[in-house]
Amino acid sequence: MDEGAESPAGGAPPLRAHFFDLDREAVAAWAAERHLPRHLVDQLLDWVYKKGVTDPAAMTNLSKAHRTLFESEFEVLRGRTIVHQSATDGTQKVLLSWRPAAPESGALLPQLSDTVARGSETESVMIPSEDRRTACVSSQLGCPVGCTFCASGIGGLEGNLTSGQIVEQVFRLGRLEGVDRISHVVFMGMGEPLANYAAVTDAIRVLNAPWGLGISARRITVSTVGLPAAIRKFCDFELPVTLALSLHAPSDALRREIIPWAEFSTIGELLDACDEWFHRTGREITLEYILLGGVNDSPAHAEDLATHALRIHANVNLIRYNEVRGIPYSRPSSEDVHAFQETLRARGVNAHIRASRGRDIAAACGQLRHERSAVVP
Ligand code: SF4
Repeated sequence: MDEGAESPAGGAPPLRAHFFDLDREAVAAWAAERHLPRHLVDQLLDWVYKKGVTDPAAMTNLSKAHRTLFESEFEVLRGRTIVHQSATDGTQKVLLSWRPAAPESGALLPQLSDTVARGSETESVMIPSEDRRTACVSSQLGCPVGCTFCASGIGGLEGNLTSGQIVEQVFRLGRLEGVDRISHVVFMGMGEPLANYAAVTDAIRVLNAPWGLGISARRITVSTVGLPAAIRKFCDFELPVTLALSLHAPSDALRREIIPWAEFSTIGELLDACDEWFHRTGREITLEYILLGGVNDSPAHAEDLATHALRIHANVNLIRYNEVRGIPYSRPSSEDVHAFQETLRARGVNAHIRASRGRDIAAACGQLRHERSAVVP
């Protein structure tokens, strides 16, 4: 397959292993089983992760036999880009299809090697800012949480992504035009990352590994709606990643209106788990708060949010809502957003307003997939 080429529609079904699912030990085990030279492992990892080469034919220091074997047993790029959009501010968004290619007529249906449903699509976004190139990736197909302001939750959960599919999103974003390398990763796309714990943590290991994409763990942020038990489990994860809690409302009653999953725990229980995170890892949490005009953006809401943030030593990221067709929330005014921030700051909370990026390409989470599904049968 050519470098950067997509699996041809109607071609062979993806029965080969997904290279991005493997860590260094697994590649070494594969090589050892076939009595291949040890240095081949480093060569393969170097071609793919360091040089960004996915076409075995271009791996010029490999013997022809090794290139042929690699191509017959591995698929490096499994997804297919079905939409690629660039915004005027440099943000780029890709919609990937993980649909297996159709089998030839009369052939047996391919066995899926992952939990992905057929015809499934995920969104990934590359956000440039000064010297940063941030990859915002999806962890699941659809989302089980169903936040009422979010297009990703429409239709619920279709399945989990594999670690390889998460790594491939970052890899692909790093090869877009104008991107040298991805410096930061945020799990803020489709899905609840802690509900796909094993795949997300395996992917983070590959993203961070020196033989992998080499992205600093502190520059990898996992954003969760929050399940106290999952946050406690995440305290034991060996890499010093950043945790963000999507709070979005300062009271249980309002939070449950906005986030259906909030019925499973109270804000008090979540803050206890966040407090444990802070004391066990020594790392501060960021509270994410999407401002919905007239819903959760009053001065009283800001006061209550400040109390929560101070309790767990958290920074606050304020996100101004981006309108999504079919979802009945409005974008708050600039004045209201700044007044909200000022209330937090007056209480001593470190509060930032996250810049809206890519508004001209439907960059809100799940928006592109949602809008496409509205026009594509
Ligand atoms: S905001 Fe996040 S958690 Fe909520 S539905 Fe969207 S993807 Fe899921």
